[in-house]
Amino acid sequence: MPGGQGGEERDELGGAGFTATRRAEEIGYERGRLVVPDQPIIPFIEGDGTGPDIWRAAVRVLDAAVRAAYGARRAIAWLEVYAGEKAQARFGSLLPEETVAQIRGHRVAIKGPLTTPVGGGFRSLNVTLRQELDLYACVRPVRHFTGVPSPVKRPGDFDVVIFRENVEDIYAGIEWPAGSVEAADIRRFLHERFGLEVRPDAGLGLKPISRFGSQRLVRKAIQYALDHGRPSVTIVHKGNIMKYTEGAFRDWGYELAKTEFRDRVVTWDEVQRDHGGVVPPGRLLIQDSIADIMFQHLLLRPRDHSVLATPNLNGDYLSDAAAAVVGGIGMAPGANIGDGYAVFEATHGTAPKYAGQDKVNPGSVILSGVMMLEYLGWNEAAAAAVRALEETIAAGTVTYDLARGNPDAREVPTSAFADAIVRRLLA
Ligand code: NAP
Repeated sequence: MPGGQGGEERDELGGAGFTATRRAEEIGYERGRLVVPDQPIIPFIEGDGTGPDIWRAAVRVLDAAVRAAYGARRAIAWLEVYAGEKAQARFGSLLPEETVAQIRGHRVAIKGPLTTPVGGGFRSLNVTLRQELDLYACVRPVRHFTGVPSPVKRPGDFDVVIFRENVEDIYAGIEWPAGSVEAADIRRFLHERFGLEVRPDAGLGLKPISRFGSQRLVRKAIQYALDHGRPSVTIVHKGNIMKYTEGAFRDWGYELAKTEFRDRVVTWDEVQRDHGGVVPPGRLLIQDSIADIMFQHLLLRPRDHSVLATPNLNGDYLSDAAAAVVGGIGMAPGANIGDGYAVFEATHGTAPKYAGQDKVNPGSVILSGVMMLEYLGWNEAAAAAVRALEETIAAGTVTYDLARGNPDAREVPTSAFADAIVRRLLA
């Protein structure tokens, strides 16, 4: 079994103490589907700052969940790969090429948070992986866990999964600073070719949104909704203003839904016109919403929405706003998913002031691991982990962030929080 960049061959997986044998294998990909062996090798990056604290806790929970669901039949063979400060110290590079190669080779990986150095000259790991593996969907499930403090009255009504397009839109990085030669050239072109005037002191950026990029994102959102028995997909856009980018995203989304999923979906218009305002049983509702109204809906009518499909910028804002509604970033998981490749990650940063204190909430990495288990098709293990996490929080055993303002809670360190979850899993 490969031993990562350290070159070690490891049988002991640490964590809850389970052992992977030399039967560990790489995940395959055939005819558009992952082929997952019983002992898949999965690279992990523990991360900087509080990364090691939360990874140590999370890996024990994930191993215990797999053990609880499948006994000795299945286990993950974790393979450490390096990025960030640990990679810099060992290999003199924040992102060794070997790390990207290992993740590509093993297809599925999980990472803790990494310090983003301030200043130029370094492509972030996220951006590099997103581009190299074409991880075009950023997936963020957002739901409430009983016992987690929330700013709204009924956080339990909130249960959405956000599919954010990950590579296009103004995030494509096609932009020029005010006063640059390039900006002047574009200004001149716009003036001469289209008679358009742009102020000379304006920075300029392009917002590419393609049919291909929009449809593959909406396809993933619809497939997810169908696979998970979700009632609706809402296409979120700002098409009333940006007609040929955001408006087109909506139109291409509906087009895709009606051509590729015709007998399994119904659109909002069809429900009104043909079905007396009631979604026919067994059909997935495809609707759309203007982005700014969506923020209101998330607060006022969260039950009206289940899966959101959105261009990059809307999705960025919506993901964090949604996470705040259910109690903040300590518990928000995420994934970057392409076709046959996926990288799961905590959505918060390294929280450096708490590094090494065994203090912060490992919930975000644990729940990212849960998404990973679901992606592998190990749904029983995923469900077991969620149940044990939920019961632990509901029982009032929580890390400092969830104990804040909750006199009934018992604050415990990161490791003890994981202990409590593992105990429930293996009880
Ligand atoms: P941050 O690390 O997310 O921390 C901000 C605050 O969020 C913390 O002070 C803490 O709040 C809370 N928090 C974060 N993680 C938590 C956890 N696991 N449990 C409980 N509370 C948690 O944001 P930052 O301080 O702006 O960024 C620090 C570094 O992380 C930067 O280098 C940044 O570039 C990097 N970063 C990396 C990623 C990534 O790798 N995906 C993402 C974002 C930021 P309290 O102080 O209120 O307790």
